[in-house]
Amino acid sequence: MSEPVVSRIVRCPQCGQPAKATKDNPARPFCSRRCKLIDLGKWFEEDNRIPGESEGHIDEDH
Ligand SMILES: [Zn+2]
Repeated sequence: MSEPVVSRIVRCPQCGQPAKATKDNPARPFCSRRCKLIDLGKWFEEDNRIPGESEGHIDEDH
């Protein structure tokens, strides 16, 4: 019983693009390391949000 390759493709939770859910994708279920980091940064940010402080400019990766 061999799994079709298509089933190994998932939707990236960050950008919604198809992402490989196989071992060769260290960022799975994200499509890339970048999306993984963005997602991690998001909850990290929320976790460390200081109430009352105005939202500063978030430096997008460049
Ligand atoms: Zn992505």
